[in-house]
Amino acid sequence: MSETSGTTGLLLNEPLLWERGGKGRCGFSMPRRDVESFPIEQGLVGAVPDFPELSEVDVVRHYTRLSQWNFGVDTGMYPLGSCTMKYNPKVNEKYASLPRFAGAHPYLPAQLVQGALRLMYDLERFLAEITGMDATSLQPAAGAQGELAGIMLIHAYLKSKGMKRSKIIVPDTAHGTNPASSALCGYRPIPVKSNEHGIISPEAVAGVMDEDVAGIMLTNPNTLGLFEENIRKISEIVHGKGGQLYCDGANMNAVMGIVQMGKVGVDVIHLNLHKTFSAPHGGGGPGSGPICVRNHLEPFLPVPRVVKENEAYVLSYDYPQSIGKVHSFYGNFGVMVKAYTYILSMGPEDLKKASQLAVLNANYIKEGLKGVFELPYDRPCMHECVLSDKRQRSYKISTLDIAKRLIDYGFHPPTIYFPLVVQGAIMIEPTETESKETLDEFIEACKSIAKEAEENPGLLLEAPTRSKVRRLDEVMAARKPCLSD
Ligand SMILES: *Cc1c(COP(=O)(O)O)cnc(C)c1O
Repeated sequence: MSETSGTTGLLLNEPLLWERGGKGRCGFSMPRRDVESFPIEQGLVGAVPDFPELSEVDVVRHYTRLSQWNFGVDTGMYPLGSCTMKYNPKVNEKYASLPRFAGAHPYLPAQLVQGALRLMYDLERFLAEITGMDATSLQPAAGAQGELAGIMLIHAYLKSKGMKRSKIIVPDTAHGTNPASSALCGYRPIPVKSNEHGIISPEAVAGVMDEDVAGIMLTNPNTLGLFEENIRKISEIVHGKGGQLYCDGANMNAVMGIVQMGKVGVDVIHLNLHKTFSAPHGGGGPGSGPICVRNHLEPFLPVPRVVKENEAYVLSYDYPQSIGKVHSFYGNFGVMVKAYTYILSMGPEDLKKASQLAVLNANYIKEGLKGVFELPYDRPCMHECVLSDKRQRSYKISTLDIAKRLIDYGFHPPTIYFPLVVQGAIMIEPTETESKETLDEFIEACKSIAKEAEENPGLLLEAPTRSKVRRLDEVMAARKPCLSD
C-alpha cells in the first residue's frame, strides 16, 4: 500500500502546501468584479509571492493534521522543570476572549474602558499582596523583560542617590536569563557558587559584596528547585553595602500564600503570569512578566500607571523619575485577564493549596525516583526536583537517551542538562494539576527505562521509536535547518 495522507492511521505524512496545491484552485469566492482589472506593476509591489493554490478544505485539513502532531499539556503530562507547563483552566481563556476585553482598542479614551483599567488596577494589587510588595507594573511581556525592567529600576534608584555601580551578583543556581539581563543593563555579572545543600550561603555573598555591587539576583525557589533559606541574611548583607535584592519569582507557583518575598528583604521581584497564573505558554507567547516593588522603587516604575482619581481610573504619565516605557501600550492585556480571573476564582486559600500540591507532587516524584536515578541533593524540594544520569553512565546511557525513551512511553521529556551545576541533570516539574495516577505512571515509566538501561541499553540508544520522527541530529538541525522535507 502506498502511503498517502489520511490512509496511514495516526501518523500522517503531510506534504507542504506548495507540494499539494494545484493550479487554479481557490480557497474563497469573491463577489463579481465591477471595476476594470488592473495588473499589479512589478517594481511597485515587488515580485508576486509564490502562494500555493488550494481549496479551503485542503488548507483546513493540512493545519488540523499538523496540530495533531503537537504534544501539549492538553494531550499529556509535560514535566519540563523551570518552565511550569501546567494545565490552565479553560474558563480563564473564555473571559479573556470576551469581546469587550479582546476588542478594546488601546487608544480608546479611559472613560470608555473603565472595566479594563479597573482589572489592571486590581490585578496590580493582587500581585503586590501575593508577593508582599507595595506596587506593581504589568507592562513587561515576559520574565526576562521583567528582569531587565527590574534591573533598570535598581539602576535608576541608585543613580537618584548619586551611586554609580558596575556589578551584579548572580549565583550559579540563578536562571540563565539573570546574568543576561544584568549584562544587557550594562552590569558585570559576578558569579557565586551554591553550597553543598544547593543554596547560597551568606558567607559566599559577603565574600563578593562591595560598594561597586548594585545588587544580587536571587532565583527563589532556585533552579535546583530548592528554597533559598538564607534570603533574609543575604538581604541584610547586600543592603548593608547599599545594594538591592532582586528576586526572580518566575516560579512563584511553589510559594504562593506561603512566603511573601517583600517580607524577607526583597526589593523587586518579577512574576511569570504565563507560568503561575493561568496563561499557557510555549510556542512563543504572548506572556506577561509583571514586576512588584517596595515603596522606594515605585517612583521609577514604567509609565503609564493606572491610578484612581475621584472613583475613576485613569492612565497617568506623571512620574518624572520613571524609567519610561518597556512595552507598547500597557503590556499584554489578554494575559492579565486570565491571571485576574484565575486569582479571583481561586481565592487566597486555593492559591496556597495550588502551591502546596505543586510541592507535594514534586516531592512524590523525587521520592519515587530516588533509587532509580541519582539524586544529587537529597532534601525536600519545592515545585521541581533535579536528578541525574550518574547511575546510568556505567551502561553508557545518558540523560538524552532517557529523555528520548520517555517519548516512547508517551511522556514529554523533562528539562535536561539544566541547571548546569548538576552534570547530566534531569529536572522534573510535575505541577499541581497532575493526579496521583499520572504521577505513578510517570514514575513507573522511568523505572522501566532505568531497567532497560541496565538490561537492553540498545533500546534507549535507538529511542524514540514510536514518534513521527526518530532521533534527530540536533546540532545539524540547528545549524543547517532543512525546511522543505
Ligand atoms: C522561565 C523563567 C524565566 C524567564 O521567563 P520568560 O518569560 O521565558 O522570559 C526567568 N527565570 C526563571 C526562574 C524562569 O523559570
